[in-house]
Amino acid sequence: MRDFTDEITTFLKRHHYKNVTPTTALIDMDGTLYDSMKFHTLAWKHLADELGIEADRDEFYLYEGMTGEATIDLLYMRQFGRHVTPDEAKEFYHKKTEYFKTFPDVDTMPGAKTLIESMKKMSMKRVLVTGSGQSSLISRIERDFPGGFDENLMITSKSVTHGKPHPEPYLKAMQIAGASPRKCIAIENAPLGVKSADRAGTFTIGITTGPIPAEELSQAGAAVVFGSMQELADNFPALILKLFNTSVE
Ligand code: CA
Repeated sequence: MRDFTDEITTFLKRHHYKNVTPTTALIDMDGTLYDSMKFHTLAWKHLADELGIEADRDEFYLYEGMTGEATIDLLYMRQFGRHVTPDEAKEFYHKKTEYFKTFPDVDTMPGAKTLIESMKKMSMKRVLVTGSGQSSLISRIERDFPGGFDENLMITSKSVTHGKPHPEPYLKAMQIAGASPRKCIAIENAPLGVKSADRAGTFTIGITTGPIPAEELSQAGAAVVFGSMQELADNFPALILKLFNTSVE
């Protein structure tokens, strides 16, 4: 079993915290609860091809967490040297969403259900924090994680002005949970998501579930990184116990 003392101490010193005693978990959705990124990146690539924008499928893993509109704007600026209009952004994101819907049903990430159950046993409050505005996936949450998430404790792209890597999604999540950063942990699989959560002051757990290496999540601010959701689920009770028992002066 891993010990985590060094990782926790490093995080506490960097944020000038005495300790972190988490009672709330802020949880990302795509690539974390669901194995959906392979289809999102494919849908993005289809859209880029259709719009005559040169793009590599894997680059979309790097934009994960941004709102759809922000991603389209980034592509547009790069290819055409101008911003998209709000109407265009809406239209193109709708197209991307339609492409996504043509793919088979996404599976939950192995280990995700165990992790959520483990949080329920600990009476840890759970808030969903996603850059997605895709209602098809958000509505599946209750089916796949029964009792796991309260519909009033969800931050989606519709709840924020600035998407990840801006801290707003995580700050808003803490606000609706009524929890301070030192009472929270965040779970993220993408560098921009990790950055958003760390900037909001949260102890952020990075999960590598795609082609992005662990080092990139650490550099973005992940306090600790796991190779899979299953690995996090296996280590979760020990990690939380260690957090409660670690402090710096
Ligand atoms: Ca994600």
